[in-house]
Amino acid sequence: MNYIKGPVISRRLGRSLGIDLLPANICSEDCLYCECGPTTTLTGERKEYVPAAEVIKELEQILARDPQADFITFSGHGEPTLHSKIGEIIAYLKNNYPHYRVAVLTNSTLLTENKVQQELKNIDLLVPSLDAGCEKTFQKICQPVKGITLDNIVGGIKGFQEIFQGKIWLEILFIKGLNDSKEEIIEFKKLVSKIAPDRVDLNTINRGPAYSGYKPVSEKKLTEIAAKFPEEIEVEIFP
Ligand code: SF4
Repeated sequence: MNYIKGPVISRRLGRSLGIDLLPANICSEDCLYCECGPTTTLTGERKEYVPAAEVIKELEQILARDPQADFITFSGHGEPTLHSKIGEIIAYLKNNYPHYRVAVLTNSTLLTENKVQQELKNIDLLVPSLDAGCEKTFQKICQPVKGITLDNIVGGIKGFQEIFQGKIWLEILFIKGLNDSKEEIIEFKKLVSKIAPDRVDLNTINRGPAYSGYKPVSEKKLTEIAAKFPEEIEVEIFP
């Protein structure tokens, strides 16, 4: 089993060595736009979905060849913080390869948990998703595990900021007709001001979405939305 991919050229992260800690479509959300297809196991349960020792062994072999990665990135087929030993793997990287920057792409559903915050606190970059400005849209687009709300997502990111010294690049994905209305953008602006991330990345569907019928917004629309965010926040667009 290969748990490590790349380095691949990522539009946002440069040369990124990806770590996938979930074997199939296991996630705490079932996002309409997911590039990995529909979630087959919707869960908030943390466990060792793949053996951490094997992931570390594979990392050791790859990093011995000095792959010149800009980031080692936890991403892949599902929510990486569902893996109960992500903290151990991060600690291994930070103790043995401190010159590599570590990034985690997350839907933030578990970020309210103090244990998860502690496990991630030594990474260099957190890339949390924020796909809606209001609760109704959040439930529609992200279809999270029961009990998770947009307030949990924002609260989790805010809570993590209290102990985190690294950077936060908030990612917002727009779907035509679902979260790109004038009203929704006003709500996004409020949430972005509240979170105050180091950067906001605006993107849209650019590979096949998990569920058919959902369309990307145009580059022009992304540019218009970007212009509406507070000037003091760096905004990048990825059409
Ligand atoms: S959180 Fe990420 S991996 Fe999970 S369903 Fe949504 S897009 Fe896919």
